[in-house]
Amino acid sequence: MKDPAGALAAVRARVDAAARSAGRDPAEVALLAVSKTWPVADVVALAELGQREFAENKVQDLVAKAEELAHLDLRWHLVGQLQRNKATAVVGVGAVVQSVDRVSLVERLAGVAERAELVTEVFVQVDLGGPEGRTAARGGVAPEHAAELADEVAGHPSLRLRGLMAVAPREGAPGPAFERLAALAARVRSDHPGAAELSAGMSADLEAAVAAGATLVRVGTALFGDRALASGSGP
Ligand SMILES: *Cc1c(COP(=O)(O)O)cnc(C)c1O
Repeated sequence: MKDPAGALAAVRARVDAAARSAGRDPAEVALLAVSKTWPVADVVALAELGQREFAENKVQDLVAKAEELAHLDLRWHLVGQLQRNKATAVVGVGAVVQSVDRVSLVERLAGVAERAELVTEVFVQVDLGGPEGRTAARGGVAPEHAAELADEVAGHPSLRLRGLMAVAPREGAPGPAFERLAALAARVRSDHPGAAELSAGMSADLEAAVAAGATLVRVGTALFGDRALASGSGP
């Protein structure tokens, strides 16, 4: 990273400006640094500037970085799809799972966390892709089943439902999709007051997400640079 302090300040300034123009308190919006494909040295550079929360989209990368940097006391989030047979590794490093999208995964995570005597924090991922985009490429439960899945999570004492997560559809303006997500999140929150968070917005669309009510934006490229230039494996 050429200028981690400058990149972090620039992204924070974008988030703060978006919050203010939506009439929101910028302190309500946290920044999650998506370090996928970037080396641990870049994570360390941001950690030294006070960034505490990082995300990966592959389990093996998340576990490797979490273990190597355990002394830094960072919080890791999984934002990519999770196979049931990898749940133990993710729970073991205390990661937040943002990609919970089916009942079988909820049951698996709950069982693993219970045996480890841990409480695993999760977000239910919603597929905003629309009928033709709903190919599960980006993961997520269909919007009409999101509330049900949230109820399922909330029924397990070894899981803590933090809220909903989504990626904007590939096509079209992200704003309307984020508004639909926010409406769904409000419904889930009315049943589960502790599930007050909304994880939405990436480098290209964080303003639209903050305007719709995001409390956690997941930013990779705008912090670390273009992933095509990363030395590690591809995105
Ligand atoms: C990669 C990724 C991000 C960050 O994307 P950028 O466009 O690089 O900011 C956010 N969320 C998820 C689920 C991702 O896979």
